[in-house]
Amino acid sequence: MKKRIFSAVFTLIMGMSLLAGCNTQPEKLEFTTFAMDTVMNITIYSEDQDGARGVSEALTSLLAGMDSMLSATREGSDISQINQSEGQPVEVTGWTMELLPQVLELCQATDGALDITAYPAVKAWGFTGEEHRVPPSNELAELAAKIDYTAVELGMNTVSVPAGMEIDLGAVAKGYAGDLLAYNVRDNNLSSALLDLGQSTIVAVGTKPDGSPWRIGVRDPEGEDYFAVVELEDMAMGTSGGYQRYFEEGGVTYWHILDPKTAAPARSGLSSVTVVSPSALTCDGLSTALFVMGLEDGTQFWRDHPELEFEAVFVTENGEIYRTAGLEGRFSLADGYQDREVTVLE
Ligand code: AMP
Ligand code: MG
Repeated sequence: MKKRIFSAVFTLIMGMSLLAGCNTQPEKLEFTTFAMDTVMNITIYSEDQDGARGVSEALTSLLAGMDSMLSATREGSDISQINQSEGQPVEVTGWTMELLPQVLELCQATDGALDITAYPAVKAWGFTGEEHRVPPSNELAELAAKIDYTAVELGMNTVSVPAGMEIDLGAVAKGYAGDLLAYNVRDNNLSSALLDLGQSTIVAVGTKPDGSPWRIGVRDPEGEDYFAVVELEDMAMGTSGGYQRYFEEGGVTYWHILDPKTAAPARSGLSSVTVVSPSALTCDGLSTALFVMGLEDGTQFWRDHPELEFEAVFVTENGEIYRTAGLEGRFSLADGYQDREVTVLE
């Protein structure tokens, strides 16, 4: 009798745990939001759909909050207030105060290839709106003379930018947002998510639910397809390219990534740079900076800065593909591009 009761209880427990097993299959929750001038697609896998929905709402409001604080074009944002301050110190807190020292460090590390004070030049070319123009060379010389991130002064909770200069976090804000979103996702015990913050920044949290790495395409700067796939696990990836925002005039293409030395579109011989790093902020900041530096200086920068923990893929204007050695086993050419040569940078 005892034996029968035991086996009935055992069967019941087994049945319950099998049922529970069925319920714990992670389900996909996907949502889209618009922030930082970009459509963002977030995918979260979780057994707890109600919890995941709560996280999705938190991420959406986090992005909206960051946008209203960090955007240079939004009236009343911290950055707008700094840009209208006529050289006076402006009190800032939160994300602005957390991000600025990190960005200035990247500006310094890249020797000014990344320079947040390029904003007046970005505006002069019309990249903040729809009306593009090619500024004459004397205007560009004046603009270039006023690009200098070392003039930005940080106090305990203040930022000062000299009169006549303005800043813009467009080159790094999506990366920073990606890191904060990923932190939030992990903090909610979610271990599988893909945070796609628009055409250029993506953060992979954990792996796919089946334990395999996320496989992310790298866009062919000359077309709509992706030419390569990078496998990511708890890793971010960011791409900067002339094809992402540009205009044409008189048969010449002018893009939105400017060389701070000339205040004009960076002509370094590259058409895109992709950076892979655990930090999305590093990916975003360095992809812009390496685009300005070009292949040779960018490769040397990679060799000189192992502490920044990044790998890179360069595509030249001639369509040549270069990747750093650390991407071994994580980088492959996509279907249709198998015959392309890839040079490994050591
Ligand atoms: P990204 O798409 O991340 O490469 O960033 C490009 C954006 O950053 C542009 O749209 C400008 O707003 C701004 N920008 C352009 N050139 C630079 C530069 N050399 N340093 C910092 N920001 C830049
Ligand atoms: Mg960037």
